[in-house]
Amino acid sequence: MPFDAMHGNVGDYFMGRDMDGLIARLMENDQNVHGAPPAAKASVAALRRFEATKEMEADPVQECVVCRDRFNVGQSCTAMPCEHIYHEDCLAQWLGVHNSCPMCRMELPTDDDEYERSKQHREERRQSQENARPPTEGN
Ligand SMILES: [Zn+2]
Ligand SMILES: [Zn+2]
Repeated sequence: MPFDAMHGNVGDYFMGRDMDGLIARLMENDQNVHGAPPAAKASVAALRRFEATKEMEADPVQECVVCRDRFNVGQSCTAMPCEHIYHEDCLAQWLGVHNSCPMCRMELPTDDDEYERSKQHREERRQSQENARPPTEGN
């Protein structure tokens, strides 16, 4: 099966607020479908941390997609490099089983050499496919 066809709709994973159930489902998904290891501890530690602001609390669209809760002033938050924001604890749990942003799937480095190599491989294949041009006609 092509790699991309194995990804389901990410919205399916976010029913309900049961964190243990959510993580269990994610782990199941991770092992059976995605196969990606957790994010490297060092890369998680390097993420930007800050306290939720009044503006964040007042913004009805801002929510942590891991727990589907809003941000309250003073709560510890973590921002992914893609600038998606989560509660610090929620993101820490998420990145303990996943290496990618729950919202946009931007990947963090992992501690898994084999996974990193296969990721690089995929990336190179993708790029060489993109660079491959059909031969110019009449030349
Ligand atoms: Zn949260
Ligand atoms: Zn993101």
